[in-house]
Amino acid sequence: MFKKLNILDEKEKVLRSVSNNVSFPLSKEDKNLIQRCIDHLTYSQIEKYEKKYHLRPGMGLAFPQLGIKKRIIVIVYEVDDEVFENYVVINPKIISNSVEMIAADAGEGCLSVDREVEGHVPRYARVTVEGYDEEGNKIKVRAREDLAIAFQHEIDHLNGILFYDHIDKNHPFFTEDEMRLI
Ligand code: ZN
Repeated sequence: MFKKLNILDEKEKVLRSVSNNVSFPLSKEDKNLIQRCIDHLTYSQIEKYEKKYHLRPGMGLAFPQLGIKKRIIVIVYEVDDEVFENYVVINPKIISNSVEMIAADAGEGCLSVDREVEGHVPRYARVTVEGYDEEGNKIKVRAREDLAIAFQHEIDHLNGILFYDHIDKNHPFFTEDEMRLI
């Protein structure tokens, strides 16, 4: 039975706090919550379920958005029409990044921010993320383009940072000369 997650709003203080490292083995509750994140994010990106369960589409969640100050992120990335790749990274860390920056031309969205925020968010075009899987095995993920943006967005949540913090109020939109917009 699918049960919609209760995702906290940006006004909640926990979204501005720095989350703690997680030790292994993970608790049953955490594993269960990771699975619920995967289900929620997957369903939110399938039109039929999105409508049925009144979900806002999203590709990523971080545990603080559920009120839990643990360094766990989940990304469900649509690689093809309704074909998804799941990324669960515990204690994620960006260990290297490209010099090149990009920004999502349409701006970024967040399941905790239920309003339109206009402006380009500068992000690294490519990142390498190191962390652990659910069993505590060390993993390394190389991400580029929109997946790289998703990783940076979710890791920011673990440090109490929201996407619009990166938008320059005096210069919210880049031109094609200033930034590669994707
Ligand atoms: Zn977010």
